[in-house]
Amino acid sequence: MNYDQYSSKNSDAEISSLPLYTIGIASKLAGTSVHTLRMYENKGLILPHKTKTKRRVYSKTDIERILCIRRHIVEDGLNIAGIKTILAMVPCWEFKPCSKASRESCDAYTSTSEPCWAASQKGKECQNIDCRTCDVYLLANKCSDIKALYKELMNKKD
Ligand code: SF4
Repeated sequence: MNYDQYSSKNSDAEISSLPLYTIGIASKLAGTSVHTLRMYENKGLILPHKTKTKRRVYSKTDIERILCIRRHIVEDGLNIAGIKTILAMVPCWEFKPCSKASRESCDAYTSTSEPCWAASQKGKECQNIDCRTCDVYLLANKCSDIKALYKELMNKKD
């Protein structure tokens, strides 16, 4: 299916999430370096799409997320650890209901330094899910403060 066929059948959100850009193009669109994009990924701030050959490919939504991270750093004065701490405070278990047993074995439930998608040990409800499509992960694409993030999540839940 080519892009025109795809775009006539799908929503703007689906089109924006299509992995289209190599890391070199993504770095130009986001006004930063390839090295910085790799660093954001290594720090768990972004999960780029990976091809079967492990090549990173970025979507429009990913570029928005990178621009948001840049804004938090340049305008809000946050560092990477500060951004991660804010994201780690989102109570993902409220939105991906998981059992008590799962929580006990899930680093996302206890960590105050890593967002849930970067947890090394996840509960069984989250183990085989593509976090790129999860509401909890997607919220950080918006340059919102933590209260706005909670409000949006709570509204979706109601
Ligand atoms: S699916 Fe991923 S992003 Fe969503 S709550 Fe689970 S670990 Fe977090």
